[in-house]
Amino acid sequence: MYTVDGVETVGVVGAGTMGAGIAQVAATAGYDVVMRDVETEFVEDGLDRIDDSLGRLVSRESLTEATAAAARRRIDGTTDLADLGDADLVVEAVLEQMDVKQDVFASLDEITPEGAVLATNTSTLSVTTIAAATERPGDVVGLHFMNPVPVMEGVEVVRAETTADPTVSLVDDFADSLDKTTWESADRPGFVVNRVLIPWVCEGIRAYDEGVASKEDVDTGLKLGTNAPMGPLELGDHIGLDVVLDAAETLHDELGDKYRPPVLLERKVDAGHLGKKTGCGFYDYAE
Ligand code: NAD
Repeated sequence: MYTVDGVETVGVVGAGTMGAGIAQVAATAGYDVVMRDVETEFVEDGLDRIDDSLGRLVSRESLTEATAAAARRRIDGTTDLADLGDADLVVEAVLEQMDVKQDVFASLDEITPEGAVLATNTSTLSVTTIAAATERPGDVVGLHFMNPVPVMEGVEVVRAETTADPTVSLVDDFADSLDKTTWESADRPGFVVNRVLIPWVCEGIRAYDEGVASKEDVDTGLKLGTNAPMGPLELGDHIGLDVVLDAAETLHDELGDKYRPPVLLERKVDAGHLGKKTGCGFYDYAE
């Protein structure tokens, strides 16, 4: 791994599942990272997840103890967005809600230096609409990491209608410096991956809810039938059912009725059964 010229400090907004993973891989590649969340508790949870993940990589001998310790030292946690004032590149990974993302980008526009690239990890929302909250939409781009970030090789680069070519080149180089492989998508709902994947998860939930098969058989069928590593219900629990619902609602709003979220997905989210991150979703993770 190497670092991209002109990018020393990477800001990460959101210390949840994705933000912590992005902070970890950036620091491992040698960037200084400042990771921000709204509450100290959420920042600490994110840092704990990074410690656990680095520890697992060391125990599997994928990283040396010295490299992991150096990566960890490069990450600062904060609740103050102004601490991202020196960032050359920021990756936003907050909730999948347009108003929240636009607020974050309007603030980033004010506090980051001229020329800093502002990337969003949105799963489905319009990058062009997020960019419109800033005075420099040419610097805004989609950089859609996959979950879990330290493990998954692919990163989707989303070119908004307004994204400038040098911005796309910089995030391509940045992803390459993290040892990731990119592909490019136009700014259309769900881009390439989630336009196909979210309906796949939703259809699995509907098949289970309509009694076509047990949840285990839906997952086994799709795993063995398509060589997928996880079935749709397992994958929904892994992504977070609230994240799946937000994504499905965006696809439904923008692409029409065939993307309607299943009622059972809405009920699970209302119940707070969000998957692995809350200990229970379609499956029980209490252990
Ligand atoms: P998450 O719920 O685990 O984390 C989101 C974090 O953002 C929370 O800690 C929350 O406190 C924080 N937050 C909310 N408002 C904030 C603000 N104004 N400033 C700073 N932090 C704020 O969610 P996640 O799964 O990490 O998803 C984050 C983004 O990544 C979403 O846009 C999601 O669609 C996208 N994404 C998720 C996955 C996945 O599998 N979970 C995969 C790819 C992309």
